[in-house]
Parts: sequence; structure tokens; C-alpha cells
Amino acid sequence: MITINEDCINCDMCVPECPVEAIEMGDEHYEIKQSLCVECEGFYPEPSCYAVCPVDAVDIGK
Ligand code: SF4
Ligand code: SF4
Repeated sequence: MITINEDCINCDMCVPECPVEAIEMGDEHYEIKQSLCVECEGFYPEPSCYAVCPVDAVDIGK
């Protein structure tokens, strides 16, 4: 499961990178809609939100 943590600075970088538009604004920071996220399988070799985040706010469970 891939999630965005409280380190997110709402920079918007990841939003256009998501191939399935699974990233949306939550109460305080961006969040990943788990029902939509496909972990970028079939699109990119690694989760693109994780790849572009400048502050390491995306947790990929590793
Ligand atoms: S891992 Fe890929 S599909 Fe999931 S939210 Fe991030 S960019 Fe979107
Ligand atoms: S790229 Fe990182 S800091 Fe920017 S909105 Fe996405 S999760 Fe938040």
C-alpha cells in the first residue's frame, strides 16, 4: 500500500504524474485514493509519485 504522510508540503508535483488520477487533496495534505492506486503497475517501473516527491512524503512500504 502506498501512502502520503504528514511530511507532504502540498507542492502538487505528484498529482499530474499519477496515471490513474488517484491523488487528491485531503484535510491537510494530499492523499492517495487506495481504491484507484495501481502502484503504477503497467505504467512505470516504480511508483511515480514516490519518484517525484521532493520531500520523501510518499511511503511505499519499503
Ligand atoms: S503509486 Fe502510481 S498509481 Fe499509485 S498514487 Fe502513486 S502515481 Fe498514482
Ligand atoms: S510530491 Fe510529495 S510533497 Fe508534493 S504533493 Fe506529492 S506527496 Fe506532497
